[in-house]
Amino acid sequence: MEGTSGWESLAAALSNYKLGRTLGFGAFGIVKEGRHKFSGIKVAIKILERHFINDLDDEKVKREINIMRLLSHPHIVRLYEVIETRPAIFVIMEYMDSGELFYHITEKGRLEEAEALHFIQQIISGVESCHLHKVVHRDIKPENLLLDSKGNVKVADFGLANIMRDGHFHQTSCGSHNYAAPEVISGSLYAGPEIDIWSCGVVLYALLSGTLPFDDGIVSVLHSKIKSGIFACPSYLSLGARDLIKRMLIVDQVKRISIPEIYKHPWFQIDLPKYIAVNLVNTPWCEKEIDIPVLEEMGVLGFNVQEVIASLNKSLQNQATVTYSMLLTRSLNSHGYDNDNLQESLSPKSMERREVYVRPIPPVHGNWVLGFKSSASPHETMRHVFALLKFLNVRWKKIGSYNIKCMWKPAVRSYTVPMRVHKLTLREDTTWNAPIKSSLKEKFSLYEDVKFEIQLYRANADSYVLDWQRVSGTPFLFMELCARFHACVIA
Ligand code: ADP
Ligand code: MG
Repeated sequence: MEGTSGWESLAAALSNYKLGRTLGFGAFGIVKEGRHKFSGIKVAIKILERHFINDLDDEKVKREINIMRLLSHPHIVRLYEVIETRPAIFVIMEYMDSGELFYHITEKGRLEEAEALHFIQQIISGVESCHLHKVVHRDIKPENLLLDSKGNVKVADFGLANIMRDGHFHQTSCGSHNYAAPEVISGSLYAGPEIDIWSCGVVLYALLSGTLPFDDGIVSVLHSKIKSGIFACPSYLSLGARDLIKRMLIVDQVKRISIPEIYKHPWFQIDLPKYIAVNLVNTPWCEKEIDIPVLEEMGVLGFNVQEVIASLNKSLQNQATVTYSMLLTRSLNSHGYDNDNLQESLSPKSMERREVYVRPIPPVHGNWVLGFKSSASPHETMRHVFALLKFLNVRWKKIGSYNIKCMWKPAVRSYTVPMRVHKLTLREDTTWNAPIKSSLKEKFSLYEDVKFEIQLYRANADSYVLDWQRVSGTPFLFMELCARFHACVIA
């Protein structure tokens, strides 16, 4: 579109901005530098050209914008406004003046350990904020991590991000191959946070060594390297850095380090800034109160302060709220993030609090878990599961240690004796008793079966969720089996 008269019509929609140079190229168009005419603040404008966007992509674009609206964190690129026109959608964002972390690594070869640590601490805090909002990024790589002139890094590009739902697993293979977790390239089900942690592990390796842990020109070879999880750590890395990388790049997603565990890792804790250590839930970035100095600045720019307050209270998107958002971001960025308002210290108590924060904020699809929760070890839990499946006449095939494919074909027979299998009590199953056999025959065709997948994943530091997903067969039959399984488990 560049070089044609198309730019003039697009420029008309962007009358509040002065367009500048091109910053980068994206899947659906380019990203341009711009200047907001009211405040003089520089912005980045992602131009999503509609003729590149089909119906499926349209959903993705909407999701990207909704996710960016949800997030507000010092290490996540901030969304200011979205302007929709017939030929294009303009996403106006915080401008990251020092470009991609990718170029920084390429220029330097490899970074000093202190600089790499500084970056990974900020990246993990940004990614943690995504997860707290139930957003999984799915495309963490140095091209999507942007730098400002003060040497801060922020997470950008939510084009592949998705919302996590309790008990719901993703299966879309996405992101760059080199940074993708083994479960993503294998096409198995994954819950979300753990795939971002893997990608952050690859980023940390790249920062420290200037190379990739898994690399090959042939995609199939690259995939087998990733699935094997075998990589060499350069000997010049400190023991702490090496240990953290190894824990982030564990193939078994249940054993892979979690974000609360990363915060407790001795190497990660070195010079950990206070605002990252104590979590930002109660800091100005997340506060809903209006910032008075910013409001005064708006008055100086000629805005009617009462109208600004009214617009902010109604969450409108207009010139006043967009300008307010830009001035606020500039003010928060320029004060530094460790400010006097942050009274918390790096006490063990504040670290404990982080565990408490690992929960949905806000709950996007209700605050409940679909599936079965267990606080036993993953290995123990799976042993119980196998015993119960055997009891229920379910056949299964192991896909991984915590992932099985199952098939159930109901056979009409009666169970009358209560049983115990590996600590779990099996309840007397009356529904299969003789008097109601005939009604069951009407309910299910005897030849019908249901196929489903079961996966155990980590819900938080000490509990696991067993998720069930139907693959084929009637939902009714599937639900019947779930109910039977549930009836067997007495917590
Ligand atoms: P895509 O989803 O198509 O990869 P991105 O959002 O990653 O699009 O943008 C493409 C490139 O544009 C980035 O890799 C980066 O170089 C540049 N870019 C994107 N957003 C910004 C920003 N806020 N500030 C500066 N440069 C940006
Ligand atoms: Mg990108």
